Amino acid sequence: MFYFDNFYGKKILKSSLLDDCFFTTREFVLTPADRVDLTKEAEENRKLLKEKTECIDIYTAKQIHSANIQVISKDKTFYDNTDALISDIEGSLIILNYADCTPIILYSKKNNIGAVIHAGWRGTEAEITTKTAMKMIKEFNINPCDITALIGPCIGKCCFETDEDVFLKLVKDVKNTELYDYKNNKYYIDLKLLNKNQLLETGIINIDISSYCTCCMSDIFFSYRKEKGKTARHSAVVKIKRG
Ligand SMILES: [Zn+2]
Repeated sequence: MFYFDNFYGKKILKSSLLDDCFFTTREFVLTPADRVDLTKEAEENRKLLKEKTECIDIYTAKQIHSANIQVISKDKTFYDNTDALISDIEGSLIILNYADCTPIILYSKKNNIGAVIHAGWRGTEAEITTKTAMKMIKEFNINPCDITALIGPCIGKCCFETDEDVFLKLVKDVKNTELYDYKNNKYYIDLKLLNKNQLLETGIINIDISSYCTCCMSDIFFSYRKEKGKTARHSAVVKIKRG
């Protein structure tokens, strides 16, 4: 179950399933992106995050809507052209950033290994969620039953309007009308459900899904579509526990 909490006075979204993971909001911007006016605020927030979580460092990436996945190294904090980060380094904090795309967090408490995924429609089409989960499962020999997954706030089926080209790329099973709505010659696709199905394919069943649409709730989250590209980013944050 998702609930709003606060991180030293700044609103965050958490799930009751995982302690050391959360999604930030407009109140706790870590990446200003096109909102250069928020640069200083983001710098201060990153400093606060680093200090209060006592992490060894923040590890992040230049996201490009790919299916490129990296397992982090302790001495490298920034990853070019990467849309999923996996970490087994105790005390490391991995973050990726979003404005409508789907944020997914994976964590195995038993193995103390976490991942964060950026799945927009292109990443979802490229099955980055399946690929990241499988990499985590295989490279670290994890039982999928030991992984908890959180699907955070993203643009919902209510607002993710597309034409037929994107629809056909994303929805392989057009008979499954749970995945989309069709009205006035437009398709409305459920990115959360598509990514949930990718997780289920890998054997992960412990999944919590946020009900929030970033476009409908752009007072709380950033929305690329609603704000016509001139927006900052909210973030998915995973801290790997110290043993
Ligand atoms: Zn919506």
